[in-house]
Amino acid sequence: MSSLNYTESELHAARAVYDHTLGAGDGWMHEIKAGQTFRIVDLEGNQAADTLFYDARDFGHRYSAQDTIRRQACLYLTTGTRLYSSGGYVLLTITADTCGRHDTLGGACATESNQVRYALDKRWMHACRDTFMLQLQKWGNGATKADIAHNINFFMNVPVTPEGGLSFEDGVSSGGRYVEMQAERDVVALISNCPQLNNPCNAWNPTPIRLLLWN
Ligand SMILES: [Zn+2]
Repeated sequence: MSSLNYTESELHAARAVYDHTLGAGDGWMHEIKAGQTFRIVDLEGNQAADTLFYDARDFGHRYSAQDTIRRQACLYLTTGTRLYSSGGYVLLTITADTCGRHDTLGGACATESNQVRYALDKRWMHACRDTFMLQLQKWGNGATKADIAHNINFFMNVPVTPEGGLSFEDGVSSGGRYVEMQAERDVVALISNCPQLNNPCNAWNPTPIRLLLWN
């Protein structure tokens, strides 16, 4: 844990132009204008916020985990990390982080993976992929499940072992910790506040998150 980097923000919630609490298991899709700062607060701790970003002008250009990892030669996201698009340009830059590390390898839960990983009857449990699809349909610009690419799991702890293995571990986040990023261009954020009950990504207890924007 000592290697984790904590950077606090100077911004005050009272000055935010947008302030929304997203319930456990719910979805959210919202435009963030170039220059705005976006904060996600893990209100009660150990909650995974599965997040996708799109270029607001062209959903064909979206957050790319591959480009983000490769260009910075780093597997984890924290302060200073630039979130690259599949078009090779920066969508947002992380400017503050009191959690210290975020995952972009573990992927989002789906009914199919719940069934394969956990049990046959888990297929009917609500999953992030369903939330992504529902929110995209509501957005109504023609985006479909083909536009759901690899996501970020804010506040989720998926350490890579020296042998290259992935493990889903207890969170390193706790109540009130947050991550903040500045949009480098107009982007659309799509969040599934993960409803997962079968692994420790939410400490077996999905909880709300708070979403704020500053101009
Ligand atoms: Zn999930």
